[in-house]
Amino acid sequence: MAKAFASQADLEEKQVSFIQLSEHAWAYTAEGDPNTGIVIGDDAAMVIDTQATPVMAADVIRRIREVTDKPIKYVVLSHYHAVRVLGASAFVAEGRQHIIASDDTLSLIRERGEQDKASEIGRFPRLFRNVDSVPAGLTWPTLTFSGKMTLWLGKLEVQLLQLGRGHTKGDTVVWLPQERTLFSGDLVESGATPYAGDAYFSDWPQTLDNLAALQPLQLVPGRGAALQGEAQVAAGLLGTRNFIADVYGSVQAGAAAGKDLNTVYRETLAAVRPKYGHWVIFDHCMPFDVTRAFDEATAHRDPRIWTAERDIEMWKVLEA
Ligand SMILES: [Zn+2]
Repeated sequence: MAKAFASQADLEEKQVSFIQLSEHAWAYTAEGDPNTGIVIGDDAAMVIDTQATPVMAADVIRRIREVTDKPIKYVVLSHYHAVRVLGASAFVAEGRQHIIASDDTLSLIRERGEQDKASEIGRFPRLFRNVDSVPAGLTWPTLTFSGKMTLWLGKLEVQLLQLGRGHTKGDTVVWLPQERTLFSGDLVESGATPYAGDAYFSDWPQTLDNLAALQPLQLVPGRGAALQGEAQVAAGLLGTRNFIADVYGSVQAGAAAGKDLNTVYRETLAAVRPKYGHWVIFDHCMPFDVTRAFDEATAHRDPRIWTAERDIEMWKVLEA
């Protein structure tokens, strides 16, 4: 390989922030690394996404224990990506009762969880540096739902919602209607480039409009700082929406003109870099995003499975 994945050279430690957003909601963020959301109800706590490894998840638990001793009874997986789910076993050790995901996420874990795990470990050496602490096999939900599920943590209402496809076909958001706090998973990013290798570009903008219709006052994105207040939330939603629309628009135009993937990649990169090139993991995401967009604009309604081998093959073609 002439050039490693962009993220293989990304080894700088990130600064963790753990902040309270509303009466029952906290955000664990790390300068563009995958976030974890925390809900602390009357009788139990919930985490939304678990970090890449149990060693990383242990730091989330340490922070939670600084603010509550309530049991962490619920682990919600916003979607199936390994970098967010393989820390789950740390919460099992804490005595969790349920790992919850959408039926669509379960079907992705069954269909491509193994390949995704191998692929993501190859892509993100920094996040998976404690990969030995991940138990063998995959993280399996113990409870699944379709469309909507409501949990009551005492008097606190917690809604798990599927508001459309976007980052994956199984995307789940967590919504606290009483305090209008939203945990979006990777459907929304803040100062970080959306990864769209498993995405549905045609659906994603409408799904973001559905999130906006909830009128959140606080939003924990998949990556980047928590968004506080209507103006920041609106900017986060719009930034993600514009990126998806700009990338897909450029790729669709190139594909319609009969250009090959390599040409479309170079042209799209040049077109969007001035606007988004400062977002973290831009160079890492773009080859995957353009490849998936090209697939969707041509022959593949559903994302093809990424394997460690396909990652390298794609990189050779685009960075040749
Ligand atoms: Zn993801």
